[in-house]
Amino acid sequence: MIKNHKFDIAINDIIDKMEIIGGKILIKDILPEEIYFKNLRSLKKLNIIFADQILTLDGKNLLTLKEILGKRFKKFFSPNRTLIEKSWKVIEDCLLDKNEVIKRRISLEARNKIGNSFAHNLKGTILNKMNSEPLNNGFIFGKKKFNNNIILVYGKNYNLGNHDIVLEHYLTVNNPDDLFMGLTKCSGCVLDETKNLGHLERLYKKSNCLVKLRIEDVYFLENYLISHAMIIQETDSYIIPEIIQSHVESIIWHEHKFILEPTLFKQDDIRLNVFDYNMQQLVNNCIEKYVKKEKFNKNLSIERLKVINSKLIHQHGEQIFVYIDGSVINNGTENIDGIAGLHFYDKDHILFEEFYVNIEHWISPSKAEVTSFILALLIIYNINNVKIITDNEFIFNYFNEITRKTKIYNTRKLLKTQNNIYIWALIRQFIDLNEIIVPKITKIKAHDDNIYHNLLDQQIKN
Ligand SMILES: [Zn+2]
Repeated sequence: MIKNHKFDIAINDIIDKMEIIGGKILIKDILPEEIYFKNLRSLKKLNIIFADQILTLDGKNLLTLKEILGKRFKKFFSPNRTLIEKSWKVIEDCLLDKNEVIKRRISLEARNKIGNSFAHNLKGTILNKMNSEPLNNGFIFGKKKFNNNIILVYGKNYNLGNHDIVLEHYLTVNNPDDLFMGLTKCSGCVLDETKNLGHLERLYKKSNCLVKLRIEDVYFLENYLISHAMIIQETDSYIIPEIIQSHVESIIWHEHKFILEPTLFKQDDIRLNVFDYNMQQLVNNCIEKYVKKEKFNKNLSIERLKVINSKLIHQHGEQIFVYIDGSVINNGTENIDGIAGLHFYDKDHILFEEFYVNIEHWISPSKAEVTSFILALLIIYNINNVKIITDNEFIFNYFNEITRKTKIYNTRKLLKTQNNIYIWALIRQFIDLNEIIVPKITKIKAHDDNIYHNLLDQQIKN
């Protein structure tokens, strides 16, 4: 009758190669592009960006919409619930393994992209301890030492003491992967401690199985003030809809692991801050503002720029190097084509993102170069510790003049050498209106032996 849970939490031998707390695989990376963009509004409403936000902590199963709505990072109580539900259905169809829909296993394809990594926190899942709301009469469950194992015991609050709680024992009658939990009153089992409990104020009717737990080991099963459990009168049983036992237990075992080995735990709050920050910026996002309104290049995808920006945010303030370059091929022919390219490197000089865009109208090498520069500034607008590397002397000098605000702005020189006054005016506005965090800019010699710049140069010339 008692399940002995010996959960092994899959810990990679190589502890989390990804380094980034919370993982860096985007939902965009595991969904077909078309489906991602079609459902972007809903994903935004749910405030989810990363794959691990929609997965169980072991990364193997897809959460239910209810589980996602219960998370800490959710910001909206959207009136348009049907839109979100519709989107979620589409995403489920897309990600779930067709043969294991009931277990909510994600497809092999998605699993391969995500890989194995140990969760370092509960990814925004809220665990409510029993003692936080002693008057709530919802179902509770707790850890109990039994025969040298730790097991989970479900039930209701029977008697709350200062350090202990007496729980009226209920047995689970569902499968661990069911989309509901069924709980039925225990009619007596080896866990019963009634005899040893001494005198208790019997607040409820007589019970056949009472279990004592330490108060700090007891949690609410549902994160609601009013339980959603439905009673089945005849059998003294309850059904709690939309709750998956295996997911709940996985969360508790992770938490347990963190208590035993605190070094495994890393705060989730950096990411939560990022979300807060993103929400604040939603109305005043530099990328949206300039790409949408100014339309200096119609080939740009705002979403793509924002994805790169979110990857930069997840470098957590570590040094970032951005190599920029522009190039024109078939100059002087009708097949003239210009391209701006950007390569993003982390502090160890590992390339983690690249971006290329075609130049529109009046293609010139200088326009390609300055386009790569303005894009770099927009993408890094809210990022600290960025170094932009260019071999373009004009960009280097002119930008330095603008940032030093020498008031000279050398307009005559600009008019003489550049046809891109409009783009430069925008750049000047970034600085004058304090719309971007000003990066450092470094100039390297053209055709020098800088391997990183040469790589970018090759990419945009083929
Ligand atoms: Zn029992």
